[in-house]
Amino acid sequence: MRRAMVDTVDEVGRAASEAGIDADYVKGGTVAYARSAVQWRAAEAEVEEAAGFGADALELWDSTRVRAAGALGASFDPACARVHPAKLVRGLASAVERRGATVAEQTEVLDWAPGRVTTNRGTVTADRIVLATEGYGATLPQSHRRILPLYSLMIATEPLPEAFWDEIGLEHGQTFCDFRHLLIYGQRTADNRFAFGGRGARYHWGSSIRPNYDRSPRVFEHLRTALRELFPSVADAAITHRWGGPLGVPRDWHASANFDPATRIASAGGYVGDGLSTTNLAGRTLADLLTGADTELTRLPWVNHRSPDWEPEPLRFAGANAGMTAMSVADAEERLTGRPSLTARVMGPLVGH
Ligand SMILES: Cc1cc2nc3c(=O)[nH]c(=O)nc-3n(C[C@H](O)[C@H](O)[C@H](O)COP(=O)(O)OP(=O)(O)OC[C@H]3O[C@@H](n4cnc5c(N)ncnc54)[C@H](O)[C@@H]3O)c2cc1C
Repeated sequence: MRRAMVDTVDEVGRAASEAGIDADYVKGGTVAYARSAVQWRAAEAEVEEAAGFGADALELWDSTRVRAAGALGASFDPACARVHPAKLVRGLASAVERRGATVAEQTEVLDWAPGRVTTNRGTVTADRIVLATEGYGATLPQSHRRILPLYSLMIATEPLPEAFWDEIGLEHGQTFCDFRHLLIYGQRTADNRFAFGGRGARYHWGSSIRPNYDRSPRVFEHLRTALRELFPSVADAAITHRWGGPLGVPRDWHASANFDPATRIASAGGYVGDGLSTTNLAGRTLADLLTGADTELTRLPWVNHRSPDWEPEPLRFAGANAGMTAMSVADAEERLTGRPSLTARVMGPLVGH
């Protein structure tokens, strides 16, 4: 599974290029900064674990190779690419339309049954159906408790001068994160901005999803502060864009690609924050499952994996928000004690660690 995911990073680049999509794809790897002794041990553990899988080429970088503030070093994973996701998704939509598919926008699926999908604009009949609503599945009665919408939010700065990037040592194509528990992630965009994101937005009662949940001034401010802490010379660079959206989290944090030959209904999802390339792997896997092919892909361990349902409210609300708070507490605890967080260890199974 790990090898399939690593290889998929190249496959996204290959498929985009074959379809003539310019999505700013550059495979520059990802630098995970270790900014405390605890984080450095986490970096060492990650590289060691990856070596055990034998599918990756992770490296441990010492402090001479990294220039984020306070970084003692980093792990470097070459199997990561920078893309502009909106360019990729628009390019893919045009590519499938060129091949004869119809993309029906502004059409809301309300329900489904074998051979039939009910939408707000009528009923569609189909021999095989693929459900791919990810976090939004929580808003549909049939999949309400199968997935939990977890918000991730991002900001982007104005374009920054070449000298700035030379100073912080981030090349085109390189993405970055660190080993804190309340995740952050970023990239240098093709037009030399930071696009920088993270968790921390709260879970909303009943798994509700609303456009205004994409914007939380508190989280945007937290992101701005975190970016400034990592790279102080970004100083007062203007924040020109702010956005966000729901990720899909299954109860066991285990993605899956499924097909039931009896109902002829397939589904894929549960990628949490790693769906950009994993959706490609899911698409290829579903193509084989739906056409009845027996391939390496159809034997991957996520095929027909069934995650448990999320708890009903109010437990889901309490658990999801406690998990989010726990990750902030865990980061503070590690800063204060200099030891791996007990909170993170206790809450680990709930938050996917
Ligand atoms: C801010 C942010 C940053 C992210 N960063 C990264 C990253 O750096 N790397 C990474 O790998 N992943 C990242 N992700 C996660 C990645 O975007 C997702 O894992 C990926 O988009 C999942 O793809 P998907 O097609 O399964 O679902 P989605 O992209 O969520 O698409 C679901 C689709 O279903 C449609 N839909 C929903 N409900 C209905 C309905 N009832 N009827 C009809 N259509 C419906 C929606 O309109 C949408 O088009 C990020 C996500 C966010 C929000």
